[in-house]
Amino acid sequence: MAYRHQIDSEKCKGCGLCVAVCPKQVLELKKELNAKGYFPAYQARPDDCIHCAICCVMCPDVAISIVETADDTAAS
Ligand code: SF4
Ligand code: SF4
Repeated sequence: MAYRHQIDSEKCKGCGLCVAVCPKQVLELKKELNAKGYFPAYQARPDDCIHCAICCVMCPDVAISIVETADDTAAS
């Protein structure tokens, strides 16, 4: 099963909690503001993400999600 990590930049308030808790140092805050005037988090090193979901649990604004994606090897 493949997974995709996504951050809703417009929900993010730039608190940095996800950046701090990521065990793989995947996340950073952008240098550009979102529409609400916050610097939103993004995946600076997406290849290092292990989809542990710690960042999703920590985010107070529920801005991060991990979604299953179609996998070529799926048999069902
Ligand atoms: S899912 Fe885990 S490894 Fe990936 S960005 Fe979030 S905390 Fe980091
Ligand atoms: S924890 Fe949520 S609100 Fe805070 S920086 Fe990360 S994505 Fe944004």
